[in-house]
Amino acid sequence: MKEKVKLLDDSLLRDRAYVGGEWIQAVSGATFDVVNPATGELIGKAPHMAAVDVEHAIIQAEAAFGEWSARTAKEREAPLKEWARLIVANASDLAAILTLEQGKPLSDAKNEVLFAASFVEWFAEEAKRTYGEVIPGSRRNVTYVAIKEPVGVAAGITPWNLPCAMVTRKAAPALAAGCTMVLKPAEHTPFSALALCVLAERAGIPRGVLNVVTADRPAAEEIGRTLTSSHAVGKLSFTGSTAVGKRLAAQCADTMKRVSLELGGNSPFIVFADADLDVAVSSAVFAKFRNAGQTCIAPNRFLIDASVHDEFVKRMIAAIGELSLGDGFEPGVTLGPLISEDAVQKVERHVADALARGAKLLVGGKRADRKGNFFLPTLMTGISPEMAMSCEETFGPVMGLATFTSEDELLQRANGTRLGLASYMFSRDAARIHRTSRALQAGIVGVNTGAIATEVAPFGGFKESGIGREGARQGIDEFMETKFICEAFPG
Ligand code: NAP
Repeated sequence: MKEKVKLLDDSLLRDRAYVGGEWIQAVSGATFDVVNPATGELIGKAPHMAAVDVEHAIIQAEAAFGEWSARTAKEREAPLKEWARLIVANASDLAAILTLEQGKPLSDAKNEVLFAASFVEWFAEEAKRTYGEVIPGSRRNVTYVAIKEPVGVAAGITPWNLPCAMVTRKAAPALAAGCTMVLKPAEHTPFSALALCVLAERAGIPRGVLNVVTADRPAAEEIGRTLTSSHAVGKLSFTGSTAVGKRLAAQCADTMKRVSLELGGNSPFIVFADADLDVAVSSAVFAKFRNAGQTCIAPNRFLIDASVHDEFVKRMIAAIGELSLGDGFEPGVTLGPLISEDAVQKVERHVADALARGAKLLVGGKRADRKGNFFLPTLMTGISPEMAMSCEETFGPVMGLATFTSEDELLQRANGTRLGLASYMFSRDAARIHRTSRALQAGIVGVNTGAIATEVAPFGGFKESGIGREGARQGIDEFMETKFICEAFPG
């Protein structure tokens, strides 16, 4: 590792992949560079794996499946609970690794690590509640039983924006259900996933049950194809962009693999005239600027009742002024870098497009004048539906406001997208909350709050934002098949 971060336990930072309980290089011996997005400095090199390495990992996961799936839920619970405990115990080191490769402020990274642990704890316990059913027979002398069984080897592909939580949100339910897993983290953030493997190994999760293969983007397609075409893999759980999700779903059709897809969003953030504006502003800051705007549930379209627009703008400018941009390791920093130069260019494109089409810039609007992939927190007004930032995820610290004057107009705007992950609404009118929360076409509706992700509630999208749910009791079902046993007792 070139750029050293002070860890309490250096052994958490690994530059090998974890397959079949071994820490290994790629068969080719190739590696790829992982850089710190705040400084551009090299952090280290990770194995650049290919199809042959993934095939090996699938074989290891298949070999481990028999013993692991034969365990009772309680027997699987013990090592999973220990994994959760170790994640919490090592939270400051995991957070430092996360900030180093992903950039988010250290305190946010710590919160993500605890969020990651919460999935492991939740699913360790939930495995005991994967109930089946005994169904009243429609004939005499028969018993109808529906039971749940693990789907087998599961594949996971995760993004860089939540490098710990997206790994455990897949691995924890898969393992708790009795599946084994081969997971590929994003090229930008392999070290967080590997550090989680160190702790899984220490927790006593048997070899081959969790396998992590690493590679950079040029190999992602080959790795995806190997996972999706394998007959040994029963399920793909993917989190990432809608474009890649669609491609992977099509590939899975050939082997009729089960799929869960957590894809992109284009979330509306709605402020009605009767909203508590202070709550709306603080929730907007949290939901939009957390992780520098790089979350799938980040509000992307701010729709503000015209009668409170100017007051909302005034309070928002003040709130943005409190943000502190910098390297996530610097004390007091609340806004880190974007993940890459490409990400900065996308944000620049959205801002330029909006300004060219008549938006007004009030705050920010350009790169920060410092090294690294930093973009200033930005506020614009006069956003219209045809602008790029209304149609695509900006995935950056840019707020663009539009106004509405009636509920009908609002709902048309809010639902006028093929995506439907999250939505947010702020109002103190109970009838309006009831009506609007049901009319919004989204998998998640935050009412008077920007904090909508939790391990105990189902997370997932409508329309092209995906298929399936993560977290909650639904999250473990995604890794299980239902088997109907029809038992007849002649005589
Ligand atoms: P992405 O480009 O789709 O990448 C996600 C993962 O897929 C990465 O591991 C990537 O590998 C891999 N990948 C890329 N192309 C592939 C291919 N052709 N075949 C197989 N795998 C491939 O998305 P991203 O830009 O990293 O992540 C941001 C996106 O994730 C946003 O759209 C965001 O909304 C979405 N997201 C959704 C949720 C949710 O729960 N709904 C949560 C977080 C993020 P490389 O990194 O090596 O390219």
